[in-house]
Amino acid sequence: MRGGIGDACRVAGRDPEDLTLIVVTKFHPASLVAALAELGVRDVGENRHQEAQAKARELASLDLRWHFVGQLQSKKARQVAGYAHAIHSIDRDAVIAPLDRLAAEEGSRPPIDAFMQINLTDDPARGGVAPDGIEPLAERMLASPALRLRGVMAVAPLEEEPASAFARLAGYSERVRAIAPDADAISAGMTHDYAEAIAAGATHLRIGSAITGKRPDPR
Ligand SMILES: *Cc1c(COP(=O)(O)O)cnc(C)c1O
Repeated sequence: MRGGIGDACRVAGRDPEDLTLIVVTKFHPASLVAALAELGVRDVGENRHQEAQAKARELASLDLRWHFVGQLQSKKARQVAGYAHAIHSIDRDAVIAPLDRLAAEEGSRPPIDAFMQINLTDDPARGGVAPDGIEPLAERMLASPALRLRGVMAVAPLEEEPASAFARLAGYSERVRAIAPDADAISAGMTHDYAEAIAAGATHLRIGSAITGKRPDPR
């Protein structure tokens, strides 16, 4: 995997040091996450709250950063904040409000790294804010004491070339940076499209099956 990332960086003229590799371990047991940690993995991604919470609890003694990458339910947001170092799926006010309440209650809690998920499809059922909602959501995230706005996140649509989808995402990232200049991170790139994501400026790759092998069926 490192080799493939290195090749894609060379082609794109980018430094692999500028990339964070998040290994997405969804549906795999905690024992696999522990084995990855042994190999030096520090950033792991999960997309379902209950599964993520259980693994984070079981592996609390390991020095892991948990990235929540799945669709977030507003009533679960508070609990996700209990273990997540980063949430990649902030897409509406309803998931921010409970985090703000939590931050107000626990005055000293450090802000969570937050990525604005943007929907690159026309299907509103997919996660992510529609592009016309980017500016207001950026303002909302910037104003939230619970969050540290890091940048944007997206999943490439199945029915489109990833390069063109990620080019749009790079444009959306510029719009966010016009409001929040420090929010320069781009969470994009999975097993089948990480090279295109790197070429388009991704800073956080979310890679599952290329590293973990085929996922077991979800339980
Ligand atoms: C599962 C998942 C990934 C990793 O997918 P692979 O194709 O296995 O690399 C990345 N991002 C999100 C949001 C996911 O749900």
